Amino acid sequence: MTLPDQTPGALPATSSRRRPRKSLGQHFLTDPRIAQRIVAAAQPSPGDTILEIGPGSGTLTRRLIASGSNVIAVEIDPHLAAVLPERMDNPPNLKVVQGDARTIDIPALLEGRSTYKLVANLPYYAAAPILRRFLESQVPPTSLIVMVQREVADAMCAAPGQMTLMSVATQLYAVPSVVAQVPPRSFRPPPKVSSTVIKLVMKETQPDPLNGIEEFFALVRSGFSAPRKQLRNSLMQGSGSPAEFVSAVLTDAGIDGQRRPATLSIPEWLTLDTHWPAGVP
Ligand code: SAM
Repeated sequence: MTLPDQTPGALPATSSRRRPRKSLGQHFLTDPRIAQRIVAAAQPSPGDTILEIGPGSGTLTRRLIASGSNVIAVEIDPHLAAVLPERMDNPPNLKVVQGDARTIDIPALLEGRSTYKLVANLPYYAAAPILRRFLESQVPPTSLIVMVQREVADAMCAAPGQMTLMSVATQLYAVPSVVAQVPPRSFRPPPKVSSTVIKLVMKETQPDPLNGIEEFFALVRSGFSAPRKQLRNSLMQGSGSPAEFVSAVLTDAGIDGQRRPATLSIPEWLTLDTHWPAGVP
């Protein structure tokens, strides 16, 4: 983690209008109403700590700073990270860190603070690993307001009947809701896909699966290995376990093996986990 050169005038602000780097998912938000809705959903107050991932040229950052919150902005692009403080008029409540949100040391970034909100217009290519990292962190945010590709948002917000591995991985930790639908024309350059802003409010009690989180997700992955099949068959295929074993566990857990994996709720996955022996994938 390296702090950028924040010397005033080190780089001219105008030079940040370079060609957006597609490889870094740089689609900059140009619709001020959407920016306002994202920031409003975070309900920032003076004294709050807001972690912004990928501030880019500062469309959201400027509004977050104006709320009086303390903003920590993590930007992977060294040039954008370097010019951001000056673009924002060097406010005292902004700290910019050049780094990769997929690997950054979260406690070091927060400098001892344990309560914070996360706000991000996420790069599509890295949205899933970044979200996973913060949802599973030992120091998770209290809420996350994030823009992601519409299909990803749909999966994160899905109800039983439409659930996927992504739905379980999200809703194990947080309660999702949709903030806004965002068309490609709201960005420069416009992406090929539509986007959705969602809010994830972290559950007060974090999950504590019986055999640990890794085993829990190994079970869920097995359950979704053949998502169109009945749960019993999908679990057999995914875990390599015999039919009698899988049927017995499902009966013990009180779950009908003829159901499709997509129909199980989070409490049902947790119940299945308590009946599934440790060490069986
Ligand atoms: N927040 C700005 C906005 O709304 O206009 C920019 C959003 S743009 C979709 C994504 C931003 O994330 C870019 O500035 C990009 O350089 C940055 N970025 C890409 N990968 C990143 C990563 N792994 N860690 C931190 N920032 C990243």
